[in-house]
Amino acid sequence: MSSTRPTYDPGRIEASRQAEWEVGAAFATPEPAAGQAAVYIKPSSPFTSGNLHMGHVRDYSIGDAYARFRRARGDAVLFGFGFDAFGLPAEMAAIERGARPAEWVESCGERMLVQMKRLGFSFDYGRAFYSSDESQYRWSQWLFLTLHEAGLVYRDNATVDWCDTCQTTLAALQVEDGRCWRCHNKVRLIRRPTWFLRLSPYLEENDRNLAGLERSWDELSLKTQRYILGRSDGVEVDLAGPDGGGLLVFSPHPEAIGEARFVLLSPRHEGIERWAEDPAVAERLDELRSGGWERSARDASAVPVIDTGASVEVAGGGALPVFVSPIVDARYGPTAALGIPAADEADEAIAARVPRTAGAPLGGGDVVALRPQQASRYRAYDFSISRQRYWGTPIPVLHCEQCGVVPVPIADLPVVLPRDVEPTGEGNPLAERPDFLQVACPTCGGEARRETDTLDCHFDALWLWVPAAVPPESRDEQMFTHPDLRHWLPSERLVAGNDSGGFVFDQRVVTKALRDIGPFSFLRDGEPFAGCLFHEMVIADGRKMSKHLGNVVDPDALVAEHGADTVRLAVLYAAGPTKALNWTDGALRFASRFLRGLWDYTHDSIVAAAEAPEDPEAAADTAFIRERLGKWCDSGLERITADLEELQMHKAVRNVTRLLERIKDFEKRVVKRQGRLAREDYEALLGALALLAGTLTPFAPHIAEELLVALGRDASVGFPVEGDVAALLMARNS
Ligand SMILES: [Zn+2]
Ligand SMILES: [Zn+2]
Repeated sequence: MSSTRPTYDPGRIEASRQAEWEVGAAFATPEPAAGQAAVYIKPSSPFTSGNLHMGHVRDYSIGDAYARFRRARGDAVLFGFGFDAFGLPAEMAAIERGARPAEWVESCGERMLVQMKRLGFSFDYGRAFYSSDESQYRWSQWLFLTLHEAGLVYRDNATVDWCDTCQTTLAALQVEDGRCWRCHNKVRLIRRPTWFLRLSPYLEENDRNLAGLERSWDELSLKTQRYILGRSDGVEVDLAGPDGGGLLVFSPHPEAIGEARFVLLSPRHEGIERWAEDPAVAERLDELRSGGWERSARDASAVPVIDTGASVEVAGGGALPVFVSPIVDARYGPTAALGIPAADEADEAIAARVPRTAGAPLGGGDVVALRPQQASRYRAYDFSISRQRYWGTPIPVLHCEQCGVVPVPIADLPVVLPRDVEPTGEGNPLAERPDFLQVACPTCGGEARRETDTLDCHFDALWLWVPAAVPPESRDEQMFTHPDLRHWLPSERLVAGNDSGGFVFDQRVVTKALRDIGPFSFLRDGEPFAGCLFHEMVIADGRKMSKHLGNVVDPDALVAEHGADTVRLAVLYAAGPTKALNWTDGALRFASRFLRGLWDYTHDSIVAAAEAPEDPEAAADTAFIRERLGKWCDSGLERITADLEELQMHKAVRNVTRLLERIKDFEKRVVKRQGRLAREDYEALLGALALLAGTLTPFAPHIAEELLVALGRDASVGFPVEGDVAALLMARNS
């Protein structure tokens, strides 16, 4: 019989299934029908700075399995994404190649789309976009102006790395051991005006909402949100300030506040100027703020500490000396904290360095008189959103000598980024483009200069989950107001790498801001993602994949050799999402063996079934074994369904492989009893194989559909639902 069995040829099968999907527009986003669940599955937005890597393959294999599963269950599914195309990595990669970033990111994107299609990912490719497209970044500019108007974007001085040789500011990742990545000269820290996103109004709500998200956010993703919040619980006490004004001081050690010996203020404390009236202290504070202190702020034995010379009086006599140190920011945010050497190791280390901490303890031990109130503090703080780089969304403001900083009117958007620029990494090329720079002030009509800073790509990412939910033809007019947003948002599931916690946190803040401003008023809890799954990265030999280590696994080579289905199945099978996937050939061999085995077994069974005799007597004798097969199928399907609902794809794949073992076991038992399978037994066997192929469609869709066709089933049915089992095993009760 093996002579009639077709060979498993992944290249041929995968090309033909993919062509069929394309012709049938199988993954086009549908209009949800009344009563139909609208499920928006959001994969991570790839950076356009190279090819697809194994981390992407992992991300999209999980999301794709889930999307195919939800479609088969009858839900309306939107599975779409856009490229995170602006930013430093893309600009640096273009500089390395002597290319224009605009052309470089497009060529990357096109190549990645080919790779994604070759892997069979069921994205709605018609909805893909680039954040660097004018039609997109115009809305980033709209968001900037909208948040600015609401007081959530502001301009302040910040410390940045500056290279004197290259005449440019550098991002943190461009500074290696205090030296410039290009010229290797020493980097200086300078103060310059920078734009910030204000997070503080929404920290508490981001915290509070986590309890409600616990149902469909996995533990890893919740952990990142808690880490970024950096919440400390404790008490606050109101101490008297130098001029009689109050000073609210926090401590996470409520039982020990009577032992406090000093007060630490954040350099960003709102009342800091009161404590820095002494010119010498003011000067040191200014030095500290210009000093790039964030790098060492967690080390109490090295962190800068300024003695203000002042003290706060304490009820019942005595006084606590007041110091300024950025260690407060690193632990509790821009606040004031009690220093309690007896209860806190960091405070102990500071006390050992600063002589004026040896006074009488707070309140002479009378804690009750201080009336401590329960309180919390968050470490999370506003972040800077502007960069002195070319490749980013131009910040839509002007500088006018008469009027100062003037926002560009929304009607005048977009402020277009010149595309014909080949940056060298030196200076900001926008500052040398008169056609970009010179503009009339919209307020006074006088001469004005455009802002030459661009937005960090982190800012574009704040809303990068929105465009896929809007039909491309409506994005110009209705990006934030299209009626479809109401059924697709919030996204049912975000699937992303566990390094996305910061992005997600800020997206949650901005969603709340847009709810309060108006466009997202229908998202009452202000959450962009109802569910979230974070996965760990893909490593090799226990180490991060890198060119330098020579351990990079290239998905293209794997797909060319083994086929997309094998690679996808291997990636899903190899590890649960919360574990780092240590890539080995073992998983690949397992997946290859399983798929080839299933292919051969199914085709052999089809041939054998056609030749099987009618034998009513034997069939009656084996009816109970067919019954048992039906139960195995029922429970197998139940288990795989539950795994898929939880996005535990490694478990689901394992249960699919177990189902094949059960089916083979069925055959063995019948042969043992009757010597061969009767027609009825084969019908049950083929029914079970069809069910198995159906359960495989989310993971290895090409071979699964091909097997369904060979079994005479409708390939588009996909993953079976419970009611299907009886129909698939129609022969089991005969
Ligand atoms: Zn340099
Ligand atoms: Zn003006």
